[in-house]
Amino acid sequence: MNSEPFTKSCPCGSQASLDACCGRFLHGFEAAPTPETLMRSRFTAFATGTDAAIAYLVETHHPDFRPPNLESALRKGIGDTHWLTLTVRNAGAAGDSGTVDFVATYRHKGQMGEMRESSNFVREKGLWLYMNGS
Ligand SMILES: [Zn+2]
Repeated sequence: MNSEPFTKSCPCGSQASLDACCGRFLHGFEAAPTPETLMRSRFTAFATGTDAAIAYLVETHHPDFRPPNLESALRKGIGDTHWLTLTVRNAGAAGDSGTVDFVATYRHKGQMGEMRESSNFVREKGLWLYMNGS
């Protein structure tokens, strides 16, 4: 048995370690190759809530769709919601646009909740960016 008690599994639920999964995108070593990998890494950023994660959430949010107070809003609110699980229901890309349908569960002030979203992504200069969701 090869147990690695100190290896943290990725919050996105992939079963891989954080470093091998979303961590390499979050820390800027690699660009997320698909809308789904970007979406998963943004979920992981919300789940970890570190300064680096907040910077990543701002950077990967398309500037034209980025609320002006995004960074301060994230700083204020990111610790209030504990993100638990992510299920990607459908993901795809055609050329430089893509969508990801997902369900995420969380706990907010002691209450369990569920968020369902269909997120839209666009690729610019080789980088996938989050636009908006419905
Ligand atoms: Zn991951």
